[in-house]
Amino acid sequence: MDASLLRALEAVVGKDGLVSQPTRLVPYESDGLAILRQRPDLVLLPRDTGEAAACYRLLHEAQVPIVARGAGTGLSGGATPVAGGVVVGTARMRDVLELNTEDRYARVQAGLVNASLSRECDPHGLFYAPDPSSQRACTIGGNVAENSGGPHCFKYGATTQHVLGLVIVQHDGTVLDLSGPIVDPDGYDLVGLFVGSEGTFGMATEVTLRLTPKPPVVETLLAVFDGLEAACDSVTEMIAERLEPSAIEILDQLTIRAVEDSVFAAGYPTDAGAVLLVEVEGLEEEVAVTSEDIRAIFARHPVLEVRSARDPEERLKLWAGRKGAFGAMGRIAPDLYVADACVPRTKLAEMVRATIEIARERGLRLATVFHAGDGNLHPNICYDRRDPDEVERVLDAGRAILERCVDAGGSLTGEHGVGIEKLEQMEYLFSEADLAAMCRVRDAWDPERRMNPGKLVPLRACGEIRAAALPS
Ligand SMILES: Cc1cc2nc3c(=O)[nH]c(=O)nc-3n(C[C@H](O)[C@H](O)[C@H](O)COP(=O)(O)OP(=O)(O)OC[C@H]3O[C@@H](n4cnc5c(N)ncnc54)[C@H](O)[C@@H]3O)c2cc1C
Repeated sequence: MDASLLRALEAVVGKDGLVSQPTRLVPYESDGLAILRQRPDLVLLPRDTGEAAACYRLLHEAQVPIVARGAGTGLSGGATPVAGGVVVGTARMRDVLELNTEDRYARVQAGLVNASLSRECDPHGLFYAPDPSSQRACTIGGNVAENSGGPHCFKYGATTQHVLGLVIVQHDGTVLDLSGPIVDPDGYDLVGLFVGSEGTFGMATEVTLRLTPKPPVVETLLAVFDGLEAACDSVTEMIAERLEPSAIEILDQLTIRAVEDSVFAAGYPTDAGAVLLVEVEGLEEEVAVTSEDIRAIFARHPVLEVRSARDPEERLKLWAGRKGAFGAMGRIAPDLYVADACVPRTKLAEMVRATIEIARERGLRLATVFHAGDGNLHPNICYDRRDPDEVERVLDAGRAILERCVDAGGSLTGEHGVGIEKLEQMEYLFSEADLAAMCRVRDAWDPERRMNPGKLVPLRACGEIRAAALPS
């Protein structure tokens, strides 16, 4: 990289905000999708919107590709710099700028870790509802870019339902201040459009978020089954009966054993074929009635045991097991490929069977843990990335799983985004006209296509469509 550009960038972010030594660049080679790696030329860590904007301006003048990065916990290759260039990270942008407990919103820097916000709000009887299992590491900016979900998004909705405003640094360094907090803003909903854009529209530097009152009563149920099928069928029935717990999560046997052997041990029975974790929230009477209805559904399936967390400590333990499940799988194999797709909830059991079959046919080990209430499957393939043949089989299984879910009327991603991982399947799911519309939107935000190039919209489709459908 040009020495004068480096000097100018260092003048903006300071020595501590510029990473260029090859060994220190290694952690930025990939996100949680460790199969795909590419080292950036440089990493910049601005401290606020002004510094980020100045970096973007300089990189615009030099026409350098930019990848925004939060904590790098993404699972679809979103923060992996496939075209090289510069990674601009939010690791030094972690402040809560405003906590308004009366109007119930918070304005935060994009690098704030998700779980920190609920910790800050707790004394005021409020919390931030979207709770990805990675919430102790992932950032609010990453959540916005991926429109992240989490166990409790079944009741409260995914990130997009909680973002009231944004400050965005655009491709050329200009700043859009859409910081809200207005519930129904005039004009185009640019905030809504930005959420889920996976870093291809520029960088969110500040985010205004809705805060939610903590429910007065919470009950957490653990239902134990001898197989996945009965657990899935119970969920299908809960949805059909219009029951509204706040979270419905399933863990299969391999996952249960990995969790119980790890520091996240939650007291799940290790001989169970599957466990279902269901949370019910609200007023005391409401919780009692819903919980009784759910127990009645369990009783119609071969449930082995149903128990309710005795106290807040046991509840936290049950959730720590669920949220630590991906980490615990490190005990099974060195690497984990976390597939992510949504299917209609009437097809849960059928699709879980299909994913098991796909893995079996390719000689792969599969552990399943997922947001069952949203029909959001996470078939996790345990593998070793040092074995090229196994890597090929993993990628092939990933493709097959996604296509089966689309064929069943589902979508390519429940919450992890398209990134690089699902580019090919975008052409499987969307028509040429759909992709052309996406390309035009992308071009409006980033006419030079330097913002996280190679992600989300297949370039081949974009290139061909651009020639055919867009003025040059
Ligand atoms: C153990 C584990 C459990 C997980 N559980 C869940 C879960 O329950 N639900 C869920 O939804 N996800 C889950 N994930 C995936 C991941 O944590 C989420 O996608 C998360 O939102 C990524 O945040 P991050 O800060 O790590 O972003 P990164 O991985 O750094 O980036 C993700 C994407 O966002 C873009 N980006 C990052 N910051 C910004 C910004 N400020 N402005 C614009 N673009 C930006 C990047 O360019 C990239 O495309 C899990 C991951 C792991 C490893």
